[in-house]
Amino acid sequence: MIFFPNIIFSLFLIFLTILPLYSFEIKVKIFSSKLLKEFKIYSKCLKIKNEVINNDKVNVFIRGKKIVIITNNKLYEDDVFEIEPCNEIFEVSIKKEKRIYKGKLILYLKNNIIIPINVIEFNDYILSVVEYETRVMKNIEAIKANAVAARSYVLASYEQRHKGDGYHFCDLTHCQLYKGFENIREVVRKAVDNTKGYVILYNGKPAWSMYHSVCGGKTEDALDVWGYDSMPYLSSIDDKVSNLTLCSFGWGYRWKTKMSKNKIEDAFLKSGLIEKKEKVYYMYVSSRSKSGRVKFLTIRTNKRILDIRGIDFYHIIGRKINWLAIKSTLFDVKYDKKYFIFEGKGYGHGVGMCQHGADKMAEFGYLWKDIINHYYKNVKIVKIN
Ligand SMILES: [Zn+2]
Ligand SMILES: [Zn+2]
Repeated sequence: MIFFPNIIFSLFLIFLTILPLYSFEIKVKIFSSKLLKEFKIYSKCLKIKNEVINNDKVNVFIRGKKIVIITNNKLYEDDVFEIEPCNEIFEVSIKKEKRIYKGKLILYLKNNIIIPINVIEFNDYILSVVEYETRVMKNIEAIKANAVAARSYVLASYEQRHKGDGYHFCDLTHCQLYKGFENIREVVRKAVDNTKGYVILYNGKPAWSMYHSVCGGKTEDALDVWGYDSMPYLSSIDDKVSNLTLCSFGWGYRWKTKMSKNKIEDAFLKSGLIEKKEKVYYMYVSSRSKSGRVKFLTIRTNKRILDIRGIDFYHIIGRKINWLAIKSTLFDVKYDKKYFIFEGKGYGHGVGMCQHGADKMAEFGYLWKDIINHYYKNVKIVKIN
């Protein structure tokens, strides 16, 4: 009873803080992995420069220092374009890849590359993110938990994730996957709709509710990976229910990768970690976090001894070789003549919700709120009108 007025008051405060955000538009840089020089846009009806263009495949490309748009009977040339479908959707195609989008498209040039920004309503954005981020999940309660996590993450991070870039999010896993509105599964529509308005709060603010594919048995503390001490809800947990490791059936739970020394040296060189002709002799795990993940790797070369953070090593190999080679920082490393052999567990950074684990919890009959409370500690789940 004592807590009752406090709860009402804090809910009221939360309501005031979040309400203006809730029907807002998100700016997403689409096709983020590509350097765009030309593409096509199609819609039954498009508005460009206050003119209506019907049933036309519009070509967009660069000429000189301008963006050029050519329709069946007109040419437009400018530094910036704002394109809007008269109805709801439009298609963007780059070579053989086609995606369906909603909202508006803003185009501008940066370093002679076209930057396409999709301005999209918050709830629409969440629907697509949940579709593309939960393709490994089958059970609706897990997808609901992921929808609430995705929603809260957007509210928590939209001002900071790409601060200074001119948009809120990219469309890659760096932020959250967003590939438009083709083939949205019915189960995703239901999950997003049934949890509409629900967010995860910590200390009255939306939580940075991160998630990843497979934790490998223990999730990671955000403090150990990124030094975030303001997010105690992202602390390490055992991903278990009655002694069963929830994600142990998930793809990437156990992995083994053999990588040649040359390949690793090449990745290190390209990342500026070592110099030309510098040779890696051996490496070993010099410290681990509470969850067992590699905090530091020590690398002995012909010139020096280097200490590199486990998460930096993971990013270097991911970016320069392949994200599937070193699937997580929960690994051991051995040396075998010209090769390094990595044996590990889990896929992804390991912080927050483990998606395969969440899916298994749902299979066991747990509900989405149970799943959220399993992975994020001491959070509140609140519905905003
Ligand atoms: Zn991003
Ligand atoms: Zn797990």
